[in-house]
Amino acid sequence: MTEIIHNVDRAEISKFEELASRWWDPHSEFKTLHDINPLRLDYIDDGAGGLEGKRVLDVGCGGGILSESMAQRGARVTGIDMGEMPLRVAELHTLESGVEVEYRRTPVETLAAEEPEGFDLITCMEMLEHVPHPASVVDACARLVRPGGKVFFSTLNRNPKSFLFAVVGAEYILGMLPRGTHNYARFIRPSELDAWIRPTELRTIDMTGMTYNPFTRTYSLDPHDLDVNYLMTCVRDADV
Ligand code: SAH
Repeated sequence: MTEIIHNVDRAEISKFEELASRWWDPHSEFKTLHDINPLRLDYIDDGAGGLEGKRVLDVGCGGGILSESMAQRGARVTGIDMGEMPLRVAELHTLESGVEVEYRRTPVETLAAEEPEGFDLITCMEMLEHVPHPASVVDACARLVRPGGKVFFSTLNRNPKSFLFAVVGAEYILGMLPRGTHNYARFIRPSELDAWIRPTELRTIDMTGMTYNPFTRTYSLDPHDLDVNYLMTCVRDADV
């Protein structure tokens, strides 16, 4: 199981280590994550049939923007990441906010061996495009969710338009993200993500795009436009 040790790109992690102190500043490099959070939180809450009382694992949780918001809706949340600083920032923030989240620095593949079927819901947002072997993360998520539970992924599509919007536009023109945040070659087409899901016990039940309007500077969900950012919902069938 060499993948367990090697499925971390130190260069990717260090990008987040360096920026971590600004994670909760809504005007910082993490502005986009703050801006999209209400949309994705509602998407997850609806798709899960309510977060209240659910045991949730947030994979690649970073500074905890999504983790805390899910806990505020009544979920019992565990956040995991391989970055030291993002997790420290996440922990410090819970002291300030009083929101309870358990944070752990552990590879998702390791947790899958320790707590199979341990969670009602898994979220893995904006993380797969930073990992050398995303299929291994998908497989671990499939093992961590209980039968009947759901897994939510979000990532960036790979095509000329996403290159223009997510790299050239967001990093270079609008300056929304630090240059070098995204490595275009690691972007993931919905068909590729679905191909990694298919051999697992998960089944894709929804795909929705998240679109950005640069004029109004707002995001919205659009099931017909998966061209740049998109979200996917999977269910682990109860009878398999
Ligand atoms: N999911 C959060 C943070 C996204 S930023 C959100 O959407 O708000 C991407 C995060 O993935 C960073 O915190 C980074 O440290 C983490 N990450 C990158 N590679 C990882 C890996 N192999 N295992 C766990 N986390 C990883």
